[in-house]
Amino acid sequence: MERILNGKVAVVTGGTRGIGYAIVKKYLEAGAKVVLFGSREETALKALSKIRTELPDAQVDAMWPNLCDRGEVSAAFLNIKEKYGSLDILANNAGISQNTPLFDYKDEDFDKILDLNVKALYVCTRAAAEIMKEQGGGAIINTSSIVSYNGQGSGCGYPASKFAVNGLTKSLSRELGRYNIRVNAVAPGVTRTDMVAVLPDEMIQPIIRNIPMGRMAEPEDIANAFLFLASDWASYISGAILPVAGAVVI
Ligand code: NAD
Repeated sequence: MERILNGKVAVVTGGTRGIGYAIVKKYLEAGAKVVLFGSREETALKALSKIRTELPDAQVDAMWPNLCDRGEVSAAFLNIKEKYGSLDILANNAGISQNTPLFDYKDEDFDKILDLNVKALYVCTRAAAEIMKEQGGGAIINTSSIVSYNGQGSGCGYPASKFAVNGLTKSLSRELGRYNIRVNAVAPGVTRTDMVAVLPDEMIQPIIRNIPMGRMAEPEDIANAFLFLASDWASYISGAILPVAGAVVI
């Protein structure tokens, strides 16, 4: 693969599995140094050991700050800047979903989804942007979803959070453009990860039948878009929400 991220330093939140792990791998193969963020020490170190086995020459590290805690996140980013010299790319990928109908929804679950999918993205972006502003630029790629276009029929907290991701992406691209910081989002369709594995087959099959390209996405399909938007090939793209969903319209 062409090393289009040579010399860049990237952080990928939720980098331990699924789409995040595929982004970590893609960025490393493209020549970046990557710090993957996990929710817990154990899973972060397990993913680190796996990626080091798959790509023995890669420069990769792992951290597990609480993504909603500005102090912890800022300290982690400053640590990375000190160790590697810069922070050029932030992939805000960590996220959870839930499919519960409205009348069964627990208030604390609504808070949990908004905390991770929205507040953590704001906290991480703010901490990274402070460093990127000082160093003269950077690229931030957020994880939206295809449900951010028309919502979904059950589990309202998740689409609400992804509409908010689009709002943050568009607003922050305008606010941070003057600092040469690009902010974009990728909106994946149904993708083969643990998040989807928990859904019943009778829910997934009709969704797949509705995809013009006839299959769900693989994590690598989504990681390709994260690579493009992080690279200088996207040098004048900011504020975009890029659907990666096999032409599906929902
Ligand atoms: P996944 O469940 O496989 O991975 C989620 C990642 O988020 C994991 O690395 C996990 O460690 C991390 N995470 C979960 N809770 C966390 C917490 N409290 N603090 C820090 N990290 C935490 O899911 P995935 O499918 O790879 O999802 C990745 C992103 O893609 C999410 O933002 C999700 O909303 C989005 N997305 C997924 C699909 C899909 O069909 N899989 C579709 C559209 C968007």
